[in-house]
Amino acid sequence: MTYSLPTRLAHAGRTVTVPGGQPVNPPVVRASTVLFDSVAQQREARARRDTERLFTYGARGNPTSFALEDTVTTLEGGYRTRLFPSGLAAAAMTILAYVRPGQHVLLPDCVYEPVRNLADGFLRQQGIATDFYAADGSDLDAKLRPETRLVYVEAPGSLTYEMCDLPALAARAHAHGALVAADNTWGSGMLYRPLALGADISLMAATKYLGGHSDVMMGTVCTTEAVWQPLTAMADAFGMCVSPDDAYLVQRGIRSLGARLAQHEASALTIAHWLLTHPEVADVFCPALPHDPNHALWQRDCHGTNGLLSFTLRSRAPVAPEHFVDCLRLFGIGASWGGFESLAMLADMRRARSVTDWSSRCAVVRLHIGLEAVTDLISDLTQAFVAISQIEAVETHS
Ligand SMILES: *Cc1c(COP(=O)(O)O)cnc(C)c1O
Repeated sequence: MTYSLPTRLAHAGRTVTVPGGQPVNPPVVRASTVLFDSVAQQREARARRDTERLFTYGARGNPTSFALEDTVTTLEGGYRTRLFPSGLAAAAMTILAYVRPGQHVLLPDCVYEPVRNLADGFLRQQGIATDFYAADGSDLDAKLRPETRLVYVEAPGSLTYEMCDLPALAARAHAHGALVAADNTWGSGMLYRPLALGADISLMAATKYLGGHSDVMMGTVCTTEAVWQPLTAMADAFGMCVSPDDAYLVQRGIRSLGARLAQHEASALTIAHWLLTHPEVADVFCPALPHDPNHALWQRDCHGTNGLLSFTLRSRAPVAPEHFVDCLRLFGIGASWGGFESLAMLADMRRARSVTDWSSRCAVVRLHIGLEAVTDLISDLTQAFVAISQIEAVETHS
């Protein structure tokens, strides 16, 4: 009998066995040194550790992180998973594992901004050519080159949640001899499953919904069996590992992922529909809204939405977006998302996009809707809208 994903997540990762009864959760095993019974046993373990997952040294993982790897593999539906100290490290290591100097990487215009900066900076300095393609993938054919080795995908995209047709994009990339790596942080493995849609590699910032409590940094990369070896070899070469305490926190977070996402979705949808009717709001970006240009692909490929949504203000006053965010009392001002609490952030889309022209639109307000009561969040937004309508009134009179 195959159980559904929420059921499997409640039971995944019980890979540690001890004599007697078993704990519900994997224990935190702190270790750098691992002891062997004999030189021969150690030699044998070292000979096997590049191809098998063995507990041989702390930098190669520990039983707590192995348990989390298994849970993430369940979530992503892949072959195996490696853990990284942050989501950005996971993205950087993924690109470095598959692309060599002289080769070319394509990234979507809607990519998470630090990955854009990595592509524009470090990768180019290393002789790896990088280009950005339209977030919907429409210009992919024109941008693929003979030396393109990797097509990076982020769907839905950062800040404005653009979708691409991943199965079609993956088919074109594969026909061209390129691999496809997807940043699945938005989908968290429950709302979107890139490996089932044709990607070879799926990575996530576990810092966001997997951890879920704004208290741990981690990245995960899960691949298909065919492309596993370069990823795991790169992680070993760079000594990429996570502490067992952090692995424990993420494992614990994942147990409630489905329940949390359902609540984030319900509240975010309520607020998205409310914003749509608000006279101060120009655009609302959320692929679950029927008017959103990404809605059809979202409906086809996603299994729900999360707590993220963005919007622009109708006000042309340049100070309005910043004033709006400053006026919020329940929403914290801070980067990241995926925790239990609501956050607001201003995004400068002119810096975040190079293919799409955002110059004529004002700054985007990005909200993460947390687990607070939605009525309280709407009251908070309401008083901030009142505050900005007052600055407009002042400006019109002066
Ligand atoms: C936050 C984020 C990352 C990076 O994760 P960190 O753990 O903060 O380094 C990568 N991709 C996306 C889409 C993100 O939102």
